[in-house]
Amino acid sequence: MEYAVNGQPTGGPEAGEDWEAGENSPVLQVLEKIREEATGLSGGLVADYIPELAHADPETFGIAAVSAHGRSYCVGDAEHAFTLQSISKPFVYAIAVEQLGLDRVHEHVGAEPSGEPFNAISLDERGRPENPMINAGAIVTTSLVESGSPEGRFERIRSVLSAFAGRELGVDESVYRSEAETGHRNRALGYLSLAGGVLVGPVEAAVQDYFRQCAVSVTVRDLAAMAATLAVGGVNPVTGERVVSQRTARHTLSIMSSCGMYDRAGEWGLRVGIPAKSGVSGGILAAAPGAFGVGVFSPPLDDAGNSVRGVAALERLSDDYDLHMLQMPAKPPSPVHSVTRDGSTLEVRLRGEIDFLAAEQVVSRLAEAIDDARVSSVSVALERVSGLSDAARSLLAAEITELEDAGVDATVSDPRGVRRR
Ligand code: GLN
Repeated sequence: MEYAVNGQPTGGPEAGEDWEAGENSPVLQVLEKIREEATGLSGGLVADYIPELAHADPETFGIAAVSAHGRSYCVGDAEHAFTLQSISKPFVYAIAVEQLGLDRVHEHVGAEPSGEPFNAISLDERGRPENPMINAGAIVTTSLVESGSPEGRFERIRSVLSAFAGRELGVDESVYRSEAETGHRNRALGYLSLAGGVLVGPVEAAVQDYFRQCAVSVTVRDLAAMAATLAVGGVNPVTGERVVSQRTARHTLSIMSSCGMYDRAGEWGLRVGIPAKSGVSGGILAAAPGAFGVGVFSPPLDDAGNSVRGVAALERLSDDYDLHMLQMPAKPPSPVHSVTRDGSTLEVRLRGEIDFLAAEQVVSRLAEAIDDARVSSVSVALERVSGLSDAARSLLAAEITELEDAGVDATVSDPRGVRRR
């Protein structure tokens, strides 16, 4: 693999190119080992309250991961199709937030882990569902999606789900019908939210679109790509398409991390620590920020409704490979590539992605020039910088003003124009 000067691997796929791992990939070996271990677990029950789901083979088990650079790794039953069910919820939430903004969405639905099962009558004193990741809140979120026409709403949802997955997704009609014929509890939740003044009616239309989004058919590879899109701030790393804004991706990951695993959200945060969402068909989608999207499918569920093997596999993956989002490196990588002095000029070369934290290291290094009597000018070189966040840009600008006010001549060389991007 080639490495760019800033240490970022450059041998990854170009956007739009499908990259599959070779057979001997050590990453595949890791996933295979995790799958084998979790296959030893035999507990759990296949959901049957939606009659069509009861036909699932309890032994089907697949795991897929898509890296932030768009590389895909699949083991086990990776081509097996199953329905999204509750995993659709964060994505429809993302569509609503993208369209209406966070504040308007949250006039209709809360942002609290309700600590209750997915089908609970979970409403606050105003009749507003507390948690957008369980049925009551998700039906309201679906009702908020705007499309110009009631018929167009599901098509809008389907097309955004497809962009997250990077391919056209369709509906499993028999699962959809099976739930539409039996899902009366969800209808009741819809009516309670209508009575609370938060569901955009009519209820039957919202519930039908909700049933359809739950019946969208995917593979674990689709889940991994969808998760990876959230994990890297809203751009599908395989197709290169921006699906939602960086801010919407962050809001969605936040809701997943607090509310994604029904009444096991707290336990999940402790043991796995990766924003995730599970569904009753046996899928779990997990988005490790800045790193990987992971999809797992194994139908037997624990008593909270989470895939038994899926939970075990993700727990292992997180623990063994340091994917817990609160596990921090002891020392963040240095954004300073080199510092050299030529006569009275100090040349500071920076590298990599400069965010607020990195900029804090840079400006503290630049400030030393003010107290160094040998230095009368500073040149900051951005040749090796791949990106500069807004926060970093303003910190850097303020420090340059500071240097100039102190009588140190400061210049920035930026041939690639990262400051303007
Ligand atoms: N369609 C399912 C339902 O509403 C989704 C629930 C789930 O996956 N937890 O009951």
